[in-house]
Amino acid sequence: MALTGIQIFKLLPKTNCKECGVPTCLAFAMNLASGKAELDSCPYVSDEAREQLAEASAPPIRPVAIGAGVRKFTVGGETVQYRHEKTFFNPTALAAMVSSDIVADALEQKLKTWNAFQFERVGLNLRPEMVALKDAGGDAGAFAAKAKLIAESSEFNLVLMSEDEGVMKAGVEACGFKKPLIYGATAGNIDAFGALARDNGLPVAVKADSVGDLVALTEKLAEMGLKDIVIDPGSREIKQSFDDMVAVRRAALKNGNRSVGFPTITFPCEMASNLDMETVIASMYIAKYGGIVVLSDFTGESLFPLLLERLNIFTDPQRPMTVTEGIYEIGNPDENSPVMVTTNFALTYFIVSGEIEGSRVPAYLLIKDAEGLSVMTAWAAGKFAGDDVGMFVKKCGIADKVKHTELIIPGYAAAIAGDVEEELPGWTITVGPREAAHIPGFLKTR
Ligand code: SF4
Repeated sequence: MALTGIQIFKLLPKTNCKECGVPTCLAFAMNLASGKAELDSCPYVSDEAREQLAEASAPPIRPVAIGAGVRKFTVGGETVQYRHEKTFFNPTALAAMVSSDIVADALEQKLKTWNAFQFERVGLNLRPEMVALKDAGGDAGAFAAKAKLIAESSEFNLVLMSEDEGVMKAGVEACGFKKPLIYGATAGNIDAFGALARDNGLPVAVKADSVGDLVALTEKLAEMGLKDIVIDPGSREIKQSFDDMVAVRRAALKNGNRSVGFPTITFPCEMASNLDMETVIASMYIAKYGGIVVLSDFTGESLFPLLLERLNIFTDPQRPMTVTEGIYEIGNPDENSPVMVTTNFALTYFIVSGEIEGSRVPAYLLIKDAEGLSVMTAWAAGKFAGDDVGMFVKKCGIADKVKHTELIIPGYAAAIAGDVEEELPGWTITVGPREAAHIPGFLKTR
């Protein structure tokens, strides 16, 4: 059980030195208890106290690192039930399932196709992380060969799926260097699977028949010294599975139940008979509360919306995504190219720059820091005022790059035109389109 603020306070040095950033040890203890502070912020905690406090300061859902290489990832580590309370930290990992009886050529082709699914969005590379290799028929040789092929010929990390000890051992030997997730330890094989995970330093998933059965399995693994655990409550019926996800998250966060304080693995591929339904179920798990979502395949029409949903759900709602203030050159502009200005909200930048690029009219796009707000919001909040914009244009250095003095401002900020003009004597302020979609037409007809 997590410690209370007072229990934590008793273990702190009580010097009120303020080095942790709060005025008193008591305040620090309260922050630690509510997950708002990190234990490492106090440099004076004794080793003995640190050991006792480790549990109190650990996230209620353990972060579990899986895989190796460029697509390694961490799941779990969440501290809130609802995203708006703070943020969700570690995005749901997406996996596609493949059977171990697939012929090698077909598997290679699949990996090539799946590897190509990488999408650029707001400056990020969105892509799936895993392949779930499922044992077909207990052939350890075939399982190991496919695990080796996936591990060595692709960037994907692996979930090894078998309940047979011999098969799993062969799989781990073939691809252990890729830090695969062992799935799944059940009541029948937990000793062998726990030992395999412990001896190879790998994360292990438990598969139960119900939420109640999970506790015995995770406690058994904990007794064996394992910490990196992933849980599968077992249900494959949509409503029951959804309820299980919520119950597990609630038990870990609200009741401090460490026995279920682990990330989850979910299987939409075993819950739907067609891709559309599978995608809908996967989207449910991205929102609540799938650590890993296993699909039957990766296809563009299913994967892209899921990646976008994941991006949105796991973006910190309290911190707008921003781009750096400065001059952005789009399409090799020269001294006669138009100069446009907008805010540093990432979505605004990517939409506006995309439309300028689409117009094939080279231009300079000036990005002014407006604390990540969109144009209208920034203007309403006084973060995109005329004098600020004018001063920014002066100091950013655009005057050295062009020989004209025309500045195009966003249509939604037309009201600042006069103030910008006052701050930039001699410049012509042109009001551009309100909607980014109208930028190509605007630029082409000038
Ligand atoms: Fe207390 Fe440690 Fe914070 Fe100093 S740094 S006030 S000792 S908790």
